[in-house]
Amino acid sequence: MGTKRSHDGSNVSDPETPEKKSGHWAFGLLTSMKDPKSLVEEDTKIVVIKDKYPKAELHYLILPKDDISSLKQLRKCHLELLKHMDQVAERIASKHPKRKFRLGYHAVASMSRLHLHVISDDFNSSCLKTKKHWNSFTTEFFIQSKKVIADLQEFGKISPLSKDESKKLMDSPLCCHKCSFLATNMPKLKTHLLTHLKEVD
Ligand code: AMP
Ligand code: ZN
Repeated sequence: MGTKRSHDGSNVSDPETPEKKSGHWAFGLLTSMKDPKSLVEEDTKIVVIKDKYPKAELHYLILPKDDISSLKQLRKCHLELLKHMDQVAERIASKHPKRKFRLGYHAVASMSRLHLHVISDDFNSSCLKTKKHWNSFTTEFFIQSKKVIADLQEFGKISPLSKDESKKLMDSPLCCHKCSFLATNMPKLKTHLLTHLKEVD
């Protein structure tokens, strides 16, 4: 019986085994949306939750209440919703004026229900462990919220990344997102990232 790991390696299950939709790890965000401990804020259209395995000091997810599973489902009729999600993301980021944030979507998400990442760019977290984690936020695998909106406006849909493109981005060298430092492994990258933390305070 095969097992599969999410990007986090945190939820392990057998993707081949039919499970109740809400029971599979890939649907964990739907559970968190209803959990008062995860909930940050909500309105009639969206819910903001704390990322359960944050990859930075501040890491939130904005999800639509409508059942949109991923970027693939997006059409022009969703533009207003995406703009609203972007505005909420900007407002959350603006509460922390000393920090920089990345607002965007993973090109290929591991969790179901569309979710916009709002993540501080310190990347200072014990949950940030793997090259995949790093490259999923620092390469073109991370599609900025405003680019998703612009692409949807222009093309009427979001073109998916091919498996080859996706693999290439995930296998990219470990480049620091703030300087030209190139790390040979994750521990070295994480040690290096601490040198940029001083700049936050
Ligand atoms: P992705 O689908 O790759 O865009 O990312 C999914 C995000 O959801 C990751 O940042 C995970 O840390 C986070 N995550 C995984 N399971 C849960 C959960 N049950 N509740 C909240 N966040 C989660
Ligand atoms: Zn650096």
